[in-house]
Amino acid sequence: MGDKSKMPRTTELEFGGPLGALVLPALLPCTVLYLLLTCRTEAASVLNNSLVLPDLSQLWDSGALLLVLAWFSLQALLYLLPLGKVTQGMPLRDGTRLSYRINGLHALVITALLAVVGVSCGLHLGSVYDRCVHLASAATLASFGLSAFLYARSLRVPESALAPGGNSGNPIYDFFIGHELNPRIGSFDLKYFCELRPGLIGWLLIDLAMLLKECELRGSPSLAMLLVNAFQFLYVLDALWHEEAVLTTMDIVNDGFGFMLAFGDLTWVPFTYSLQAHFLVTHPQELSTPGAIAIVLLNALGYYIFRSANSQKNAFRRNPGDPKVVGLETIPTATGRQLLVSGWWGLVRHPNYLGDLIMALAWSLPCGLAHVLPYFYVVYFTVLLIHREARDEHHCRRKYGSAWNTYCSRVPYRIFPYLY
Ligand code: NDP
Repeated sequence: MGDKSKMPRTTELEFGGPLGALVLPALLPCTVLYLLLTCRTEAASVLNNSLVLPDLSQLWDSGALLLVLAWFSLQALLYLLPLGKVTQGMPLRDGTRLSYRINGLHALVITALLAVVGVSCGLHLGSVYDRCVHLASAATLASFGLSAFLYARSLRVPESALAPGGNSGNPIYDFFIGHELNPRIGSFDLKYFCELRPGLIGWLLIDLAMLLKECELRGSPSLAMLLVNAFQFLYVLDALWHEEAVLTTMDIVNDGFGFMLAFGDLTWVPFTYSLQAHFLVTHPQELSTPGAIAIVLLNALGYYIFRSANSQKNAFRRNPGDPKVVGLETIPTATGRQLLVSGWWGLVRHPNYLGDLIMALAWSLPCGLAHVLPYFYVVYFTVLLIHREARDEHHCRRKYGSAWNTYCSRVPYRIFPYLY
């Protein structure tokens, strides 16, 4: 057994190592701003773009930074409310567990009530559309600020608190990937807080703002806008309803908290995941009833696969004797844990990713087929999940050894049956 107070150096570097870690923090914010600016042009063409370099006033407004900080503060306040249960996370290296308050759903409901009260009292939420680029720049600055703070504090914590994947010794890489595993101020867990709250609830607020902007411009929301809002609301509601499941994800268990997650959670998710709603404000779409029904059915199929696959694995991991999973075939591993080889996890090795990708397509289809831009999410998410699947596969092969190889030969396809 190794010394638990020492964290071994990270030797397997991801995302292109230090070079990737240097390039991505510049490239990703530029991508967000480029997509938002392009989305508002008439052509909305990502490839054949007549966009000129914007001047600073198009990109920056200090008021937007205050709004972003106020938003984070509101969500932090809601996180601190003594509502919802407190649960234990997965065991840490030293065998201890951290406590987490499960009240994301409460935060969503209170935020929704505040939004309704605010709008009925004259709050101009539709102006988020006009200020979206400023807000994205401000969120980017806040993400950099948070990442710098996280890296600075990670230099003062004991080695045992570092992330196994973020201890390369290269400051650029460790800043990017996250040096400390579970940074906390008292009981306030910074990574867990950012993972599902300001970004996901912020994403829904931006969607709603786009819907209100459409009402301002055209009198009522379009069917396409209603579908995008409803689908994405269902997705976020599901994530917060099953908030406890986040405690077993790679993000919480393995990954440190650095620029990658901070920027992803606080800027990338709210501003690029809402692109379809943003696009519909300037590019209204007529959707036929049969077309709308087909899209709703596609989203329902994706959601069904996504939810059943995730619930099947979660039920099995919590209690392999659970009546919901008791008839499923499994293979033993040397760790004592078993792997499912029938049910959803016998169809492909990541059925939950398959469902997620089907939903991604259903969110973009209401935007029509004439533009590529609203399909950015589908393309990006496919790349993200293929990369994530490879990372997870790598972890599982290391953890389960030959049992994992047996699983792979029994279930040869990764995400798409008979394709990949
Ligand atoms: P998964 O929920 O897919 O979990 C992977 C883990 O499941 C493995 O590490 C392994 O862990 C366990 N496992 C794998 N195969 C089996 C099996 N056959 N039987 C039993 N256990 C198995 O991880 P993610 O965190 O990647 O995804 C969670 C959800 O979040 C997914 O639905 C995904 O689509 C979604 N997601 C969404 C994102 C977004 O931006 N919208 C981003 C990332 C994810 P162990 O054996 O240790 O239990």
